[in-house]
Amino acid sequence: CGIIGYIGARESQNILANGLGKLEYRGYDSAGIAVCDGECIQTEKTVGRLDNLQEKLIESPKQGSLGIGHTRWATHGRPSNENSHPHTDEETEFAVVHNGIIENYLDVKEELIADGVTFTSETDSEVIAHLFSKLYDGEMISTIQKVVQKLKGAYALGVVTKNDPDTLYAVRQASPLIVGVGEDENFISSDIPALLEHTRDMLILEDGEIAVLKREGVSLLDLETANPIERDVFKVDWD
Ligand code: GLU
Repeated sequence: CGIIGYIGARESQNILANGLGKLEYRGYDSAGIAVCDGECIQTEKTVGRLDNLQEKLIESPKQGSLGIGHTRWATHGRPSNENSHPHTDEETEFAVVHNGIIENYLDVKEELIADGVTFTSETDSEVIAHLFSKLYDGEMISTIQKVVQKLKGAYALGVVTKNDPDTLYAVRQASPLIVGVGEDENFISSDIPALLEHTRDMLILEDGEIAVLKREGVSLLDLETANPIERDVFKVDWD
């Protein structure tokens, strides 16, 4: 139901957890984060209130200045720790947060299971993480294009991979997603208010677009052609 993402110079864990707090009003039944430190991706996710997640993060902090977070409103699969996002592939090379519904997930899941993939959740979203692993060609933009070609439905995605630990990827198709542009740090979020404590400079992602976030800047690409998209930053002047 809510997505947050960070890439910058600061530790991401608390930025993500605070951002999820700002998205809480949208409603949720579980929450989680995935943090990438260059070597590996660590996830923490839990059913129930955000406090439960916070407690786990205090017990076992996740280090890294790149990460994604999610508050889930279950559509496919009951609320549970396993069904919470982020979802990862079997090797934990990719972590994905998803808002929306993948309508054809059962077909995709069957194909992946026939290929030998083991699923750990009942969600429609988990197929996305396994598709990344299966279709990865050494380059993320072309891989994203291949993955979304397999998906029908509505989605906003945040994706991190340890194959490319200095980039945060986001995709929008019929589910809202905003990019917050900071100084040597950048953000994604489902809405503007969650980012206002960090920046007032926003890029509104439109359907069929990829956002590529580095620490030093953001570029937008057309999902189909991978051509760059020019867009002016939108300055938020309200509180
Ligand atoms: N369909 C996904 C699920 O049930 C995502 C739900 C959401 O947008 O929170 O896990």
